Amino acid sequence: MKCQIRQLAGLLVAGLLAVPVQAQLNVFACEPEWAALAQELAGEHATIFTATHASQDPHYVQARPSLIAKLRSADLAVCTGAELEIGWMPMLQRRGRNPAVLPGQAGYFEAAQQVELLEKPAKLDRAEGDVHGAGNPHFLMDPRRILRVASALSSRLQQLDPGNKSAYESLLQEFTTRWQSAIRRWQSSAEGLRGKRVVVHHREWIYLLDWLGMQRVGSLEPKPGIPPNLAHLATLKEQQADMIILSPRNDTKPSAWLQKQTGTPIVVLPHTVGAVPNSDDLFGLFDEVIRRLSESAKT
Ligand SMILES: [Zn+2]
Repeated sequence: MKCQIRQLAGLLVAGLLAVPVQAQLNVFACEPEWAALAQELAGEHATIFTATHASQDPHYVQARPSLIAKLRSADLAVCTGAELEIGWMPMLQRRGRNPAVLPGQAGYFEAAQQVELLEKPAKLDRAEGDVHGAGNPHFLMDPRRILRVASALSSRLQQLDPGNKSAYESLLQEFTTRWQSAIRRWQSSAEGLRGKRVVVHHREWIYLLDWLGMQRVGSLEPKPGIPPNLAHLATLKEQQADMIILSPRNDTKPSAWLQKQTGTPIVVLPHTVGAVPNSDDLFGLFDEVIRRLSESAKT
């Protein structure tokens, strides 16, 4: 009997130890940038899963069973929205059978809802393959918009996990201070880029160019999501661009062709966290973008 009681007590203690002191929020981030932002704003209070890698194009992702399983156990899904994930996220939500992360619920956060979108089409014609039907979803590249997303995301974390409200508040405060000071630093380094003429591969840089006062004079893709073709590329030869911008995931042949024709330098910029070395968080991402642009402008 004594032995049984001791065993029972042992089991109870083991059971108590197995209960985590503090439950963490399970965050499902659609893209690496939102995983990075959630990490800044939630710190140790969240376990974060990133659904896509920097090498993947978030316009086109396969709704794999492993992603469905991750969404099923999530407390919060953080995505870009503006139809960037329209080809895969709705399917994950349907198959995930997790009511907490469905559209309209507190557990589903769309960053696009927090910012003003550029290039909203007057009329959508998907027959032409346009993948920016709800406006340009690549607003990540404007750090001022990230600040607005950060504030809203922090409120959502506080709503879902009110026990840690004050921790989220101080993490947001800390991030905001560091981010605002970084924006001043980036703007000052980028002063010489104002007015530069740019040809882009995919139309994912308009927010960056808008922020830095640069000008997009053409895109290698005739429409977002439509691969470049020679007839279209030929029209870009007369644009007298200062640089051609692409991301590491783009096909390099069209930009190489244009460079050969015009001598315009090519700049490869990270389009998300982790896309190139030294871009492992949001601060590193913009440090690297500004460094690469400034270096190209010097030549
Ligand atoms: Zn796009």
